[in-house]
Amino acid sequence: MLILMERGATPQQVQAVLEVLEAAGVRAFPQETAMALSILAPHASQALKPDRLEPMGGVAKVVPITSPYKLAGTDVVASRTIVDVRGMKVGGEELVIVGGPCGVESREQLFTVARYVAETGVKLLRAGAYKPRTSPYAFQGLGTEALELLKEVRDTFDLGIVTEATEVETFEEVERVADLVQIGARNMQNFALLRRAGRSEKPILLKRGPAATLEEWLFAAEYVLSEGNRNVILCERGIRTWADHARNTLDVSVIPAAKALTHLPVMADPSHAAGRRDLVIPCARAAVAAGADGLLVETHCQPDRALSDGPQALLPSDFIHMVVQVRGIHEVVRDIEKHSRMLF
Ligand code: PEP
Ligand code: MN
Repeated sequence: MLILMERGATPQQVQAVLEVLEAAGVRAFPQETAMALSILAPHASQALKPDRLEPMGGVAKVVPITSPYKLAGTDVVASRTIVDVRGMKVGGEELVIVGGPCGVESREQLFTVARYVAETGVKLLRAGAYKPRTSPYAFQGLGTEALELLKEVRDTFDLGIVTEATEVETFEEVERVADLVQIGARNMQNFALLRRAGRSEKPILLKRGPAATLEEWLFAAEYVLSEGNRNVILCERGIRTWADHARNTLDVSVIPAAKALTHLPVMADPSHAAGRRDLVIPCARAAVAAGADGLLVETHCQPDRALSDGPQALLPSDFIHMVVQVRGIHEVVRDIEKHSRMLF
């Protein structure tokens, strides 16, 4: 339910409402708008009747939240969410690019990639310490050792770190190092992991499952949001279709479709969508043209030797081209949108 407070409600009256909600065991999210304060309590309808709150001092009205996306929906939260990742504002005016290898393989590999990523002006480095692999015999990531290297690389190059948490058990050590914790596509409906992410202080990058509908993806985001973490970024990374020319199919239309339903920022990962180096840059360009707030792109100094996802990793020179091109497209799209609105 949504509890609308009167314009002149006192802090004590607001506090009294919050205490009733807390006693009922439901989480409450106060939000200040130009009009007045309101309190979002998405689980409250199961625990309380509106007539418990309506007579309370300072309460103007109690209304049900009819949207299925009680915290992610644009109909409940009016302003768009901007997620701050070590100073980068995802969902703001700028296109935010995250680049780096699929996984941390060695000190030399990580530092080499980090150096050229930083040189292109990109501020966020991606690299998995724990890798969710299809085969149990494939490279699983260097785990704790990789996290130590990521800490070192962050301080050396002043880069924010994006890395994946694959299990509840290792979430804490990942969040200690990460500036943005990734929940991978295969874990999009791992509800225990989503709840743990919801209790984290760090922002969450929630990849779309390879076969997930937009609805399922947004409900996964609700799991994180409803535990209290409001900093969630969605990331489209390609879905499974019958097409076999690419690893997955980049669902370009889901980017504007998601942005219409939710205030959360939406990024795109053209690397896992394409699975082929030669398709990554065109897919990146398409995602930005469709309104993506940022990109997550794999790059490797020696893709032929990569321990995972080598065929889709951009070479250093291609990575630079990609950055220049998508920044250009982003500017053009932003200017054209403004210009067309001024004309008509
Ligand atoms: C990755 O980012 O390396 C990864 C495993 O991504 P996804 O979960 O989208 O497959
Ligand atoms: Mn990968």
